[in-house]
Amino acid sequence: MAIATVNPTTGKTEMLIEPHSAAEVDERIGQAHAAAAELGRTTFEQRRAWMHAAADFLEGHAEGLGELITVEMGKPIAQSVAEVRKSVKAMRFYADHSETFLADVPLDDPARVGASAAWSVYQPLGVVLAVMPWNYPIWQVVRFAAPALMAGNAGLLKHASNVPQAAMLFDDLFERGGFPKGSFRTLLIGGGEVARVIADDRVAAVTLTGSESAGRSVAATAGDHLKKAVLELGGSDPFVVLPSADIAEAAKTAVAARVNNNGQACIAGKRFIVHTDVYEEFATEFVRRMSELVVGDPLRPETEVGPMATEQGRQDVVDLVEDARAKGATILTGGTLHDGRGWFYAPTVIADLPNDARLVQEEAFGPVASLYRASDVGDALRIANQTTFGLGSAVWTNDPSEQERFTRELDAGAVFINGMTVSYQELPFGGIKRSGFGRELAEVGQREFCNLKTVWKA
Ligand code: NDP
Repeated sequence: MAIATVNPTTGKTEMLIEPHSAAEVDERIGQAHAAAAELGRTTFEQRRAWMHAAADFLEGHAEGLGELITVEMGKPIAQSVAEVRKSVKAMRFYADHSETFLADVPLDDPARVGASAAWSVYQPLGVVLAVMPWNYPIWQVVRFAAPALMAGNAGLLKHASNVPQAAMLFDDLFERGGFPKGSFRTLLIGGGEVARVIADDRVAAVTLTGSESAGRSVAATAGDHLKKAVLELGGSDPFVVLPSADIAEAAKTAVAARVNNNGQACIAGKRFIVHTDVYEEFATEFVRRMSELVVGDPLRPETEVGPMATEQGRQDVVDLVEDARAKGATILTGGTLHDGRGWFYAPTVIADLPNDARLVQEEAFGPVASLYRASDVGDALRIANQTTFGLGSAVWTNDPSEQERFTRELDAGAVFINGMTVSYQELPFGGIKRSGFGRELAEVGQREFCNLKTVWKA
């Protein structure tokens, strides 16, 4: 894929950007490496001030950057601006909390290990490479960069090839705030060149958010070079609705969970698993709401669902829906392309999926919801856990014992009760099974790229 901004609403190429040459990549890795050494000698107080200053810049440009996001990847403008604001919040959160999150950990009773004192310190690893996706082009980068830089690491960004303008924002964002030159550098390269960067001795670790195949490739290279990797991959999150729930509220939230970000979120509710006693009631309300969504130009404030980010992404969704249709599934609404320009796909609900439909196992990275009828609570759990993914999940029930059971038995990195999965800077974020490993956000996310050094003193 060329490194270019292609507006998904019009299909028009807005900007083509020349990729970095091998020599430029080498120079940028060198700058980050030098900056990492310098950053390691800075204090939390310095980094806090720089991070707040960079956040001030982002905050001051929230509207313009929102528009840039919408033009590059098509999400409705209000969601784009909200993404920038959420990123600002996370930068300030890590600016203010990192010193506490990374405080030394003393051993209460050092005599037990024959020492006069023993403690552990969190130290930066050095240069961390971030391979990032286009779906939240600002937030995904910030949720890595803010904790990593506050811990004293330097960062290299290989952003998705379809969001180069968002990528270039990060080339000097943190320097603008005051971070040493080279603390965070963008590499304009394709996915095929990532392995060479991971292999470079000046790079200590890698984090990737993206597809299973990219994750497999990055983890293999990291393993080959014995480097730490964190992976946030896909998901096909279950959204379970049981009889004691507020069904109308569940259906309303289900729509938001499915179509937020034009349906292109790893933690979107994708499989709606409904107890047979409330199936008809839920399905009627859910389908009504999905069919009434306003689809159109994402720069218009009334638009609820914009185009998909890439033509290939839409084709992947078309293939999944057509496979299900051919195998006998029922399309309750949608299942069609919109007329005219742009990569639009109608919000879609599919029921009666046979077991061999690809949608049963594969992720629909677009506004396509699968409906499942569960005969009882155990059946709902079985369906929820039947994919190879394990990222987010939601369960709607007002029965405390069901809440407890789903919390324990759902195969997922997160369970949201009577709500939808959302990422919060205060809460750990990540998955199990083929959704990846490691965690982002909260204090555990920040510690992923630290050396927890033990100190023992006679
Ligand atoms: P990709 O995984 O292809 O892209 C994500 C990032 O990884 C991009 O920067 C991409 O670069 C890079 N990349 C791709 N292949 C490799 C590789 N072999 N080695 C190193 N880096 C690589 O995601 P897509 O855009 O193709 O989206 C398709 C699927 O990915 C979705 O169906 C969804 O499952 C998943 N996805 C999950 C996301 C999440 O939030 N967890 C976000 C986005 C996608 P380049 O753009 O240059 O190819």
